Amino acid sequence: MLPSSESERLSADPAASRARRRPTRAVRIGPVTVGGDSPVVIQSMTNTDTVDVLKTAIQCAELARAGSEIVRITVNTPEAAAAVPQIWAHLERIGVHVPLIGDFHYNGHRLLADYPECAQVLAKYRINPGNVGHGRKRDEQFAQMVEIACRHDKPVRIGVNWGSLDQDLLARIMDENATRAEPMDAIEVMREAMVASALESAARAEEIGLPGDRIILSCKVSGVQDLIAIYRELSRRSDYPLHLGLTEAGMGSKGIVASTAAMAVLLQEGIGDTIRVSLTPEPGGDRTQEVVVAQEMLQTMGLRAFTPMVAACPGCGRTTSTFFQELAQSIQSHVRAHMPQWRIEYDGVENMTLAVMGCIVNGPGESKHANIGISLPGTGEAPAAPVFEDGVKTVTLRGDNIAEEFTAIVERYVARTYKRKIA
Ligand code: SF4
Repeated sequence: MLPSSESERLSADPAASRARRRPTRAVRIGPVTVGGDSPVVIQSMTNTDTVDVLKTAIQCAELARAGSEIVRITVNTPEAAAAVPQIWAHLERIGVHVPLIGDFHYNGHRLLADYPECAQVLAKYRINPGNVGHGRKRDEQFAQMVEIACRHDKPVRIGVNWGSLDQDLLARIMDENATRAEPMDAIEVMREAMVASALESAARAEEIGLPGDRIILSCKVSGVQDLIAIYRELSRRSDYPLHLGLTEAGMGSKGIVASTAAMAVLLQEGIGDTIRVSLTPEPGGDRTQEVVVAQEMLQTMGLRAFTPMVAACPGCGRTTSTFFQELAQSIQSHVRAHMPQWRIEYDGVENMTLAVMGCIVNGPGESKHANIGISLPGTGEAPAAPVFEDGVKTVTLRGDNIAEEFTAIVERYVARTYKRKIA
């Protein structure tokens, strides 16, 4: 048993907690490593028609620029398979070298065989063992896809989904369960079938000749407790890297909350080597939101840092104007807009913390904890906004230009504090 101080440290430090997990194998996906000692990798998926080369390439680039380190695209028809090399070439031309993953169901064996250029430019194939065919055909078609992966030196993700769970396997697990002295209940049977489908498919892929360090597993469900239970079991029974995500998470806050509730528990336990937040966008909404949510999840847990975080109080009866909300939003937008350039120029700027607070109650205290904080005047306070840099009050802003002046202070702090990477 850990000494209590060590136990407390591990439970308080997610990064340390992750280190306790039995290490997973490291799988290379183009230039990205998933598993092993690597940080949790963020991935996303396009929702364009893959046949539309330009639209799909643009969305891949948007997702990559937002921070998606791997992008998955649907490959469902011969036309889509033919479009994949063109999408890849377009991305190369515009300098976006994000690994592309092909998402295959039903006909992946044929598409990969008939379109070798598609098979070559993809960095990984996603195979859903519940959607590769039935009976003898399932084994044959699964083997064909794995053999093509072997020929092209590509990793695969064995991606089980409970909406398309292998029904033969489920029936077999149910039959086995019926003979047990203490049968599992229906939910436990479903969870066991998911785990068995992933592990048996991975074992089959290794028998066919795919090295174990080219296999990633996932078992996606839409229930938070199911996801947690299934991934704990997967992690206990294998050392393949795990792709983590709640499927069909939903729209807006529901999708964000459900994904975060499930994944945070597992990530805190060191389970999950790559994540995707499967949000349903609002009609016409921005697909990159799922990438931002994934980044914020990892950053707020202290697992990775992507962009400076802005802490802002919720406001209350002491703030009668919306000024501090607007300032918090404009600072967050400013930071996000400048981050691509800052990332090139300044080492460690992603770790910067900012605070925008609404009144004197918690304003100065919270502002002192941040690298830069501003405490705006609440109702009845003198119209002055003290600014704190690294815990020290450096200036008090007044008048109509507080937002512009505070933004300029942030710019100067970044230039002064973070080492220049380029001359
Ligand atoms: S800091 Fe002030 S304005 Fe903000 S929530 Fe607390 S009391 Fe309200």
